[in-house]
Amino acid sequence: MTDEVQRSTFNVQRSGDVEEGVGTQGLIFNEPLLFDQGSKGRVGCTLPECDVPELKPERLLPRKLLRRDIPGFPELSEVEVVRHFTRLSQHNYGVDLGFYPLGSCTMKYNPKINEEVWRLPGFSQAHPYQPQSLIQGALELMYELETFLAEISGMERVSLQPAAGAQGEILGMMLIRAYLESKGSPRKRVLIPDSSHGTNPASAAICGYQCVQIKSGPRGRIEPQAVADMMDEDVAAIMITNPNTLGLFEDQIADIAKIVHAKGGQVYCDGANLNAIIGISRPGDVGVDVLHFNMHKTFAVPHGGGGPGAGPVGLKAHLAPFIPIPVVEKKGKRFVLNEDLPSSIGRVRAFYGNFAALVRAYAYIRSLGPSGLRRVAEVAVLNANYIMNQLKDTYHLPYDKFCKHECVFSDARQLPHGVQTLDIAKRLMDYGFHPPTIYFPLIVRGAMMIEPTETESKETLDQFIAAMKRIAEEAERDPELVRSAPHKTKVSRLDEVKAARQPNLRWKGKAPRLP
Ligand SMILES: *Cc1c(COP(=O)(O)O)cnc(C)c1O
Repeated sequence: MTDEVQRSTFNVQRSGDVEEGVGTQGLIFNEPLLFDQGSKGRVGCTLPECDVPELKPERLLPRKLLRRDIPGFPELSEVEVVRHFTRLSQHNYGVDLGFYPLGSCTMKYNPKINEEVWRLPGFSQAHPYQPQSLIQGALELMYELETFLAEISGMERVSLQPAAGAQGEILGMMLIRAYLESKGSPRKRVLIPDSSHGTNPASAAICGYQCVQIKSGPRGRIEPQAVADMMDEDVAAIMITNPNTLGLFEDQIADIAKIVHAKGGQVYCDGANLNAIIGISRPGDVGVDVLHFNMHKTFAVPHGGGGPGAGPVGLKAHLAPFIPIPVVEKKGKRFVLNEDLPSSIGRVRAFYGNFAALVRAYAYIRSLGPSGLRRVAEVAVLNANYIMNQLKDTYHLPYDKFCKHECVFSDARQLPHGVQTLDIAKRLMDYGFHPPTIYFPLIVRGAMMIEPTETESKETLDQFIAAMKRIAEEAERDPELVRSAPHKTKVSRLDEVKAARQPNLRWKGKAPRLP
């Protein structure tokens, strides 16, 4: 990069101005598919002459498993393969490439120190069948992580087993069910706010409960009276997300918990939005009985690509007898796995959960420490409020309140020009940004849910704000430009439903060339 280019990029960022295509231009090449490249006999690596007699494949494998040839199999050199996959990786978008304001998902930067720690051979090469005497360090890490998460959330115990937040919800509801059964009846219903994440009702239903919706009040929060009106001895629990998916703190959660407890019910907290309150407020202190954490959100474990996350579950002492086995305990100076819990609901995951995700989260917590974790929440909330205030004159803000980690706009002001949320999201890609979460939460028509996280600089936020404002202008001046976006991506607007239901993954005949 010449000095001049560098300087001009810097100036664009400083002035908060924005250029269309910031993130989508540059040295990104189109190339043929692998199947169209290479030539017969080209190889990626050559092996030394064989110094033992060669056996025909027929002598090694049953004939029916042998294939004469693989039609169209690409034959390529090593560098062609490396370039191909490196280019493909550049056609994708990730947190390491740019701003990813996907509301509710907490797409924060994943510090590389976490990867370094996880790659230490004692962690990455440990085997779950190793004797406990040889994995003392790994057990100690799980023991300490449980202690940290309990301290952070105000809970008494934590199960590290669930593989994701959604599985944590199922475990939480199984614990509540087991507890209530031990008291005589599992009960029938679970109360769930209308702003909840879809996994909440799904988890309650899987555990055999009937879901009843509670309407959010005019402040975008759950009103204690609404809970009191629905609460009776058939209600097993309330599942409440705090801060909720509108990015608002459920400031009456303590009163709600009292109402639920008075009728013998339990309080489940969906802790996916813990990023906004970590180090400041503890769900366990305001009456929550069980909650899940999302390691791949709050605790900077890489998120997406189908990679494993983790959804540990914190619980109060009365639920502890039902915790999944095994649990890590400390006996003198040694750490041991205890399977001897007669009331345990059993296992919810092979071995100890996604250990690699747990190590990364542990490294994150240790590298920030208590004051650093608190700072995470403070800056995440500051960033979200900055965006909310900068954009509220341009986009309709259904709940104009001080927000937590995310803010929710709608397309109400752009609709009269024929431009809707989906179009705005697509057009953002032309400006080099990943779109926010759209059409969720369901209680806001045409929702755009923006979560900046604490890891973004003011310059990045300013660029994003400038792009959003520019798109609003375009919607008035040239709605068709927005409606037909994106224009600068590898492929233009896709039929998303068809792409999800009938993915075209198979190569047949002559491969189609990318546009
Ligand atoms: C992400 C999320 C979940 C589900 O968590 P996963 O780890 O994706 O299974 C549940 N509730 C809310 C509010 C979320 O944002």
